[in-house]
Amino acid sequence: MSRQDLPELSAVVQRDGERYAITPRIPAGLITDFAVLRRILDVAERYGAQAVKITSAQRIALIGIAAEDLEAAWRDLDMKPGYATGLCVRSVKACPGTRYCRLGQQDALGLGIRLEEAFLGRPAPNKLKLAVSGCPLCCAESRVRDIGLIGSKRGYSVVVGGAAAGKARIAEPFAEEVKPEEAEALVGRIIDAYFRLGKKKRLGDLLDEIGLEAFRAAVGS
Ligand code: SF4
Repeated sequence: MSRQDLPELSAVVQRDGERYAITPRIPAGLITDFAVLRRILDVAERYGAQAVKITSAQRIALIGIAAEDLEAAWRDLDMKPGYATGLCVRSVKACPGTRYCRLGQQDALGLGIRLEEAFLGRPAPNKLKLAVSGCPLCCAESRVRDIGLIGSKRGYSVVVGGAAAGKARIAEPFAEEVKPEEAEALVGRIIDAYFRLGKKKRLGDLLDEIGLEAFRAAVGS
């Protein structure tokens, strides 16, 4: 009989129905302490992972861990789980922005990490994905995330209701020229309004039902 996912260990059963994948939290996909990367690889080797996989949410999944090794693997990783499943804020993707990219116009990594710390794992009516891009080229794919931010010299454009997987949807413009220091509060209000109205719908489906203006009114100012 196939095993089941183990939410308490943030472990997702794999295709063989036997082994698990675990995905530690790597805010905005950025690792500057290389000891963390070595530790991930040490744990992968120690517990016989079949592979490590870079995920679409800019994390590193350790695939093929046996059920009896999950607790020890998490202990040795000494990292928080990355919320790869569940009805909650799942991920915040961010591009290199002004920290590393010569085209950057906003510090997408800094804002992405702040948003990740503020909101990752917060309960939501459905899965909720965020992305922050440091310029209009939009390399973090902000227009196909539930809440996307796109940097320019004047601040951030905020778009809502996008999705890349399943029923693909391009996000709708929600706010312009949002200052970096105002972005976290606005994203918080968007998440709160979605939580009140969502009824298990994806944010884009909610917008299809009630319309952008009604949602904007629910978010308030
Ligand atoms: S979106 Fe702009 S800042 Fe970010 S990686 Fe792409 S080009 Fe660079």
